[in-house]
Amino acid sequence: MSHGTSPRFDVIFDLKNRVPRHVEVPRDEQGRKLKISEYFGVNTFGLTQMRDKLPSDVYAKLRQTLEHGKGLDKEIAGVVAHAIKEWALSRGVTHFCHWFQPQTGSTAEKHDAFLTLDDQKTPIEKFSGAQLIQSEPDASSFPSGGMRTTFEARGYTAWDPSSPVFIMEMGGVSTLCVPSVFISYHGDALDEKTALVRSVEVLSNRATELLHTIGLTGAKRVVPTLGAEQEYFLIDRAFYMLRPDLVMAGRTLLGGQPPKGQQLEDHYFGSIPARVLAFMAEMEHELYKLGVPVKTRHNEVAPSQFETAPIFEEVNLSTDHNQLTMEVLRKVAQRHGLACLLHEKPFAGVNGSGKHNNWSMMITGSGELDGQNLLDPGKTPHQNLRFLLVTMAVLEGVHAHAGLLRAGIASSGNDHRLGANEAPPAIISVFMGDMLSRILDEIEQSGRGSESGEAAVIRLGVAKLPEVMKDNTDRNRTSPFAFTGNKFEFRAVGSSASTAFPITLLNAAVADGFAKVTSALKAKMATQKSTDAAILEVLRDSIVRTKGVRFEGNNYSDEWVREAEKRGLPNLRKTPEALKQLVTESSKKMLVSSGVFSDAELASRFHVRLERYVKDVAIEVETLVQLVDTVVLPAALEYHGKLAEGAAAAKAAGFAATPQKESADRIAHLCDLLQTRRKGLVETFAKADAHEDHDAKAAALSTEVAQSMMEVRRACDELEGLVADAMWPLPKYREMLFLS
Ligand code: ADP
Ligand code: MG
Repeated sequence: MSHGTSPRFDVIFDLKNRVPRHVEVPRDEQGRKLKISEYFGVNTFGLTQMRDKLPSDVYAKLRQTLEHGKGLDKEIAGVVAHAIKEWALSRGVTHFCHWFQPQTGSTAEKHDAFLTLDDQKTPIEKFSGAQLIQSEPDASSFPSGGMRTTFEARGYTAWDPSSPVFIMEMGGVSTLCVPSVFISYHGDALDEKTALVRSVEVLSNRATELLHTIGLTGAKRVVPTLGAEQEYFLIDRAFYMLRPDLVMAGRTLLGGQPPKGQQLEDHYFGSIPARVLAFMAEMEHELYKLGVPVKTRHNEVAPSQFETAPIFEEVNLSTDHNQLTMEVLRKVAQRHGLACLLHEKPFAGVNGSGKHNNWSMMITGSGELDGQNLLDPGKTPHQNLRFLLVTMAVLEGVHAHAGLLRAGIASSGNDHRLGANEAPPAIISVFMGDMLSRILDEIEQSGRGSESGEAAVIRLGVAKLPEVMKDNTDRNRTSPFAFTGNKFEFRAVGSSASTAFPITLLNAAVADGFAKVTSALKAKMATQKSTDAAILEVLRDSIVRTKGVRFEGNNYSDEWVREAEKRGLPNLRKTPEALKQLVTESSKKMLVSSGVFSDAELASRFHVRLERYVKDVAIEVETLVQLVDTVVLPAALEYHGKLAEGAAAAKAAGFAATPQKESADRIAHLCDLLQTRRKGLVETFAKADAHEDHDAKAAALSTEVAQSMMEVRRACDELEGLVADAMWPLPKYREMLFLS
């Protein structure tokens, strides 16, 4: 690869047919096709590059900083900044930015040039340690949920060295991005990453304490790992631009069902259309350069729905990488004349999109133990007991904080997907699989008593867990939180969501579970003869306590809704009621005492999310009313006029039957109905909007207003089915959903 460039990937389009004609993959100077491993991460400056470029003492200090999860020493910052700048300049970069994740769900960046004028007014490129470590964007324009009073609008971003700096290349412009956290001058987290980093620490400490308690004293640190499967839709960009609802709200607010949806089940894992494949290849190429290890590509269930999945990484990094993935998906789609829709439910009647969060915990920073997955059953009985304790910590966490986890995935978009017979319901339960359930049941039923711990372990088949795990092939796709062999899969997360918040809450909840399991174990060990016996008793108690949250059946069924109610599991159908779980006494107690959020930060998460919900729905209502007034009614009335004219002409010409009249009457009736419903929507919305109280407003939006929108939509969709195709200005589902 020549200096100053990154490997090129070109798609040559056949513009007439809007399809890629030829894909040119990256090659070296001899024309040999590059392997991905030869350019993976070229646009990042991570540890390997630092080791090559930094003096060894500086590099050693940096490593230490990273391993202990601490901030960067000011002394070495200047040296690191210089190395980063030299690398960036050699790659044609002119500007840098702190790249952070405010509570908007997306990323923010403010670019500054390296250019400075020195004392002699000579232009030079400069990047100081201070600039690397800290920057001050105007915090007042980002949501803070009332945490920042107006006279104290200042906040700053600080480099998070655990995520490598990277060069974002877009349209020939290269920018150095410094992954950062965003905090107020009082130290409040204004962003999504700060609390995530804190939750990782808490989980690490609590998990390590359990490991020490069972004798694994060499364990120094545990990190949660995450692999986020990203679903998305692709449609032709020309259609997208013609749909004000997609542009404004990210989803279609109206649109009749096509004759063929997903009922033929021919799209899932079907062959990928050439146009989409070219898009995927370029999208992956961009991500590889950024060091994002995307691995899997395939068609999803709905027509025009696809998925990309990465190799898992530590959550901090994989959260950044998922944000980059969403950004690259959108941007590369544009280059291909496509629009990438990340909304949870862009189209009614076909499956929505989720982001399955594959999550586990791994030992790190502990020498020989590094890389061990705590949710891997392991080879010895003791490893299996450890696995069961860890599993129970997860179950304790999810059981005690199911409502909170539901809050973590709440958004207006996800409301359309959860519980719609295509995605997990709003009830959070855990699927363990047949074999593991059986083992848990056996432990539960085994009596306390005479048997030695070792004997019980063997009798209960705990020692056979590894084989059992290989057997774990039955996958319950309806579960919101499922054990899948050596990890849990949190499937209820929405496709457009940042993984930061749901995973922060999950880490914190499981950390709480660890604390419970560890203290129970310590208490038992003080009285029991053997550790194994103590562990078995703790397991048994925990299995009994958390049983209510385990469910192996069909989560989509009505019986489950009734059963869950009997078990006392929360069923929080809509965002406003779900968000309240953030500020319950139990949530506050757990999150504040562990230091993941302060009281004020938690209140701010609640307010920001509720406000976001209110704004989302308000935008949708306004867009829908505009569509009715400026598109649907004009088209229907124009067609009605044509039919009426035709009917009059036919009558004048002496034809007895005038079929036009029948159609004209139906359309006239529907137009009347639509106008009435439109008025109804505007009134219901005004009434909801008049609530001073945000809670009451959001509640009204999620019920009456949502209902009114549906009614308006139904009338529109009926009209779509009657008006002449040539006179219907909006692209239809039939046109948008079948890319070839
Ligand atoms: P599946 O059989 O569920 O399709 P895969 O191995 O394909 O499993 O993994 C699906 C996703 O889960 C991938 O993103 C993968 O990297 C991730 N994954 C696998 N193991 C772990 C783990 N220990 N922690 C977090 N994510 C994991
Ligand atoms: Mg999937």
